[in-house]
Amino acid sequence: MRIGLFGGTFNPIHFGHINVSKEIKEQFELDTIYMVPSAIPPHKKRQEVADAQDRLNMTRLAVSNLDGYLVSDIELIRSGPSYTIDTINHFSKILPENTKTYLILGMDSFLEIDTWMSYKELFTKLPLIIMSRPGTEHVKLQQLKTYIQEKISDNYWFQEKKNCFLHQTNRSIYLVTVTPYDISSTEIRKLIRQQKPLQNLIPEQVEQYIRSEGLYI
Ligand code: ATP
Repeated sequence: MRIGLFGGTFNPIHFGHINVSKEIKEQFELDTIYMVPSAIPPHKKRQEVADAQDRLNMTRLAVSNLDGYLVSDIELIRSGPSYTIDTINHFSKILPENTKTYLILGMDSFLEIDTWMSYKELFTKLPLIIMSRPGTEHVKLQQLKTYIQEKISDNYWFQEKKNCFLHQTNRSIYLVTVTPYDISSTEIRKLIRQQKPLQNLIPEQVEQYIRSEGLYI
């Protein structure tokens, strides 16, 4: 089995999340992507974050008609801040031993990973898939090499053929260029506050949920 773990605040989930993860699913031949909404995101301003249960509900609605997607409520069940390292440990306990599990994240998140709890340990546990994202085009390979060397380990080397960083003991870090979707939850929340149309930025069922629950106004 091949699994992708895709965590986020999903505040709200949007077509950027959905479409790029579909591309990754296909490219890495993943059987299932687990969407993992965070309960208490350690890195976001609290007052702008919708209730975790609402974000979980919206994520469920968004993937309900997609094959090979599941939504995990593990970070809501756990108490305290949502640390990815705890989620990875959880999945490695519950998934069969021969499961190949990848952690999926956008380039903007990757460049902040050195602020995450026990982040160095993540790289020893599972391979990472780093997706390109509009707004991070200026990040050049050399800059990434330096970041990885300074913050994670100076024993990675870059393999051009696979566009990936390899390490003797740590797991690989794959760089993947996906279709650019210039969509962010911040922008969507702003459009809702301004009562502007969302113009296909989020699935219809999610938009209906936001309107009926009166979120982000
Ligand atoms: P916000 O605007 O509130 O910061 P966001 O749009 O970045 O939210 P998150 O839920 O924080 O959404 O993102 C979850 C993960 O999805 C992160 O790793 C992020 O980098 C990635 N991601 C979000 N939008 C895109 C996109 N359009 N393209 C590629 N990756 C994305």
